[in-house]
Amino acid sequence: MIVTTGFGMEGCVLIDMLWEQSDGRDLVVHYLDTHFLFPETHALRRRLELRYPGLVFVNAGVSLTPEQQEQQHGPRLWERNPDLCCAIRKVEPMRNLLSGAEAWMTAVRRSQSAARSNIQTVGWDAQFGVIKINPLASWSREQVWEHAIARGVPYNELHEKGYPSIGCTHCTRIVPGAKVAAYSREGRWAGTTKTECGLHFKSAGEGI
Ligand code: SF4
Repeated sequence: MIVTTGFGMEGCVLIDMLWEQSDGRDLVVHYLDTHFLFPETHALRRRLELRYPGLVFVNAGVSLTPEQQEQQHGPRLWERNPDLCCAIRKVEPMRNLLSGAEAWMTAVRRSQSAARSNIQTVGWDAQFGVIKINPLASWSREQVWEHAIARGVPYNELHEKGYPSIGCTHCTRIVPGAKVAAYSREGRWAGTTKTECGLHFKSAGEGI
């Protein structure tokens, strides 16, 4: 089984829960470095490593550099064709990571968006051909927040600065009035109809 994180508050809480049950064994969590992560996200990864002895992060991100992407696809692909950019930097690396895996665990929740409202705790992911396990499927953001506070779980400091959901630097914006305990996908691909990167769902709300 492969556990992945995008370093959202939900992912940090899931790591906390898994670490509690790891009983001293190493806990391996994969992530995708798109080469466009915020410095605060890299800092969070290091804070999580310090908080949880035995936690091992493995970068399964794409090797294609931003410069190589520009040579192959032109400048600022994330503006001209964000679906292709996400396919190159997120979906295909995840496909490589999950090839040969039987199961995939993530921290997505139903109430994160309309597109995610049918998430199952355990289901089948047709896109990657694996059993998908979402332990937090039925959780509210309040529960996630309360768990993070009660357990002292590190989370991205950008949540305190008006970013309710955090992805790549090019495609994540501050949402005025956003509260750290409230989740929204506003601010992701702002000004477009895109709301999902394609790892979990299509933007239109149709499960992949
Ligand atoms: S979120 Fe933006 S920069 Fe990141 S892979 Fe997708 S389109 Fe590219």
